[in-house]
Amino acid sequence: MTTPLDRTVTAAIRAGYAWSVRHDQPRAWREVARMTGVIMRAAGPGNGPVTPTELVARLQRPLGDWLPGAAADESLAALVVLDDSGRLSDATYEVGCDYTIELLVGQEDPGEDWLPSWRVHRAEQIERAAFHALRRGSDDDYTRGRRFLVEHPAGDGNEVLAKQTELGLPPLVSFKPIPDDRQHRGWWWACPLCRWPMRIRSGHVSCSFPRHRAAYALLSADGRLPRLQPLEGAPRRVRAQLVEGAVYVDESVWRYIVVPGVVEVRLCDRLGRLPGVDTLLYPFKDRYDIQVLPDDGGWEITLDVKDFASARSLANKLIEKPVAAKTLVLPQYRSNQVMELRRLLPGMDVMTESGIYAKVRRLGGTR
Ligand SMILES: [Zn+2]
Repeated sequence: MTTPLDRTVTAAIRAGYAWSVRHDQPRAWREVARMTGVIMRAAGPGNGPVTPTELVARLQRPLGDWLPGAAADESLAALVVLDDSGRLSDATYEVGCDYTIELLVGQEDPGEDWLPSWRVHRAEQIERAAFHALRRGSDDDYTRGRRFLVEHPAGDGNEVLAKQTELGLPPLVSFKPIPDDRQHRGWWWACPLCRWPMRIRSGHVSCSFPRHRAAYALLSADGRLPRLQPLEGAPRRVRAQLVEGAVYVDESVWRYIVVPGVVEVRLCDRLGRLPGVDTLLYPFKDRYDIQVLPDDGGWEITLDVKDFASARSLANKLIEKPVAAKTLVLPQYRSNQVMELRRLLPGMDVMTESGIYAKVRRLGGTR
């Protein structure tokens, strides 16, 4: 079930993306016009933007100010799709993805072959396509393959391929050369958290997922290896890597598989190091994200990690399609959603990463 708000937010993001690539993509104008129509129909007469130009102007203002229904959701209300220079803001990667739906179900989508797929498809479809080959193998193959993708979203092409072969994995997704906006004089830098190439704009290097807090000033003297200076508490260790021969996964795979996967893998490994505790990552081909068992078999905890900017949007999705796990875990940076989600999802245990870590440590095992 999709809500009218899902439709209008998806339309706003698609229009914003189209606008940002209008100089290179001849079909961009038509897409902006089409999305203006979607928003107009949803808003009703006299409420929404009535021309594409008017829509583009509004995309530079918080959605809560003009998009019907957006004001009620805090994270969405503050979302500005386009920055002052007409580029897509990073916040759309974080917030907007929670809402993206297939807008044109049952008809041909003219954006299918040029809009990045996270603006056209939902997370489940991206996942299904990436892990299709793994589902035919064993549970263990599935776990290894998914973990491989989370841990290797970019790198030297030969090394990535060698690792994939060493693990006995089939090709999962396509890797492409590092794009122009993520390289500088033959070098690129991976986000210390998600390992995906950071974007470079006017001497500023940052991860497109703002919650990773990876932001750097690019210090680039002639003839020397460019260096990054951490900004606002960003991790210090970032190594310049050669663009030549380097590859990365597309942004849909990054946003829907790698970004949440970073938290899932980190938590699973952390819990697995506790004495007397065993963990399984993506067991039974992803029935849960993590299964936690003590070595004496006295209890079991099943976890699903969800990283949504909007608690309300997350709750709606889980009510529509419940997960098998009993405990919902939020990344630490989403701790402000715990109370709201406990209220909205009375049947689930809702905890942060540190909360579940403390609980499992307390339960422990016999080892
Ligand atoms: Zn990152």
